[in-house]
Amino acid sequence: MKDFDYIRAASLEDACQRAMQSGAMFLAGGTTLLDLAKCGVAEPEVVVDISHVAGLSQISADGNGVTIGALARMEDVAGSPGIKADYPAVAQSLSLAASPQLRNMATIGGNLLQRTRCPYFRDPGTFDACNKRNPGSGCAAIGGVTRNHAVLGTSSACIASYPGDLAVALVALDATISLGERTVSAEDFFLLPGDTPERETILERGEMVTAVFIPSSPVAKNSTYLKIRDRQSYEFAAASAAVGLELEADRRTIKDIRVVLGGVATKPWHARSVEKALTGKAIDIATVETASRLAVEGAVSSGGNQYKIELAPRVVTRAILTMGGLL
Ligand SMILES: Cc1cc2nc3c(=O)[nH]c(=O)nc-3n(C[C@H](O)[C@H](O)[C@H](O)COP(=O)(O)OP(=O)(O)OC[C@H]3O[C@@H](n4cnc5c(N)ncnc54)[C@H](O)[C@@H]3O)c2cc1C
Ligand code: SF4
Repeated sequence: MKDFDYIRAASLEDACQRAMQSGAMFLAGGTTLLDLAKCGVAEPEVVVDISHVAGLSQISADGNGVTIGALARMEDVAGSPGIKADYPAVAQSLSLAASPQLRNMATIGGNLLQRTRCPYFRDPGTFDACNKRNPGSGCAAIGGVTRNHAVLGTSSACIASYPGDLAVALVALDATISLGERTVSAEDFFLLPGDTPERETILERGEMVTAVFIPSSPVAKNSTYLKIRDRQSYEFAAASAAVGLELEADRRTIKDIRVVLGGVATKPWHARSVEKALTGKAIDIATVETASRLAVEGAVSSGGNQYKIELAPRVVTRAILTMGGLL
């Protein structure tokens, strides 16, 4: 690990100002940053520790929704009775992520900013080519082992999947992310790789995630996060789906639905065509199965990840049918 300077930020303003220095990086729970520094991917010159900044770890709800501070711990948010009752997809996405030890250290802001688990990205000693780590160097994954890579939203520069669970639920529930001076939708926060895979979010230098706001709604209240992975704990998603569902008074017709995929795309993947196909329809198994196939419209396999194109629609189907009371 390269030597770096360490600064403990005294306030939000102090943190953002310090982060303007070249080579500066924020440290929250440290569970991603230190990992990446140890494997030589992150080489901060200055680490700005924000973990002691006051006022950023609260969870506060009112009639409009809930605001979660960027320094709230994953475990605290997952276990919050209000989040479990009114935003179950969010609570589930967090409790199914990582391990209890990690969740007790890791923060909401850090979770959103975690980097891909692409093994080529994380092993600079063995693989030179990685456009995300070293722009213009190529992509070692293309033509390599791609079991965990994305099938949606890829480019010829990068096929790495976004690994986080929380962001998938946040996009489904129309959450917004506060960056101090400005606020953006969770959906717009994440960028497709295109020609610049090194740029993963719209964050500018010196900008920090300060909070997440999730509006209360019937789809948020009746939501779920279904995560399929190689083993039942401590594993990233092979494919996941955050689904929110509101039925009409007849308990059959779909009034509003949200479907967002995780584990299969370069960013949380909003499956609008599934939503469009189901809105106004009577919910039944065949209709949901047919619509769920639209979730992987345009998917491209890189070989080892072909199974995700089969798996993702099934995950979507199961999540919708569960929320509709048909499973
Ligand atoms: C073995 C393992 C398994 C895991 N499994 C899962 C999983 O299944 N699902 C899942 O979702 N996650 C998983 N994770 C990722 C884990 O959830 C993240 O490491 C954690 O959420 C990061 O939070 P942190 O506070 O420790 O971030 P840090 O490590 O402190 O920071 C992470 C990144 O975010 C930046 N950052 C931190 N806070 C802010 C902020 N407020 N504003 C702007 N930038 C900020 C940092 O500069 C750094 O680049 C796993 C991690 C490990 C090590
Ligand atoms: S898929 Fe992306 S992160 Fe992985 S090696 Fe290629 S450029 Fe790097």
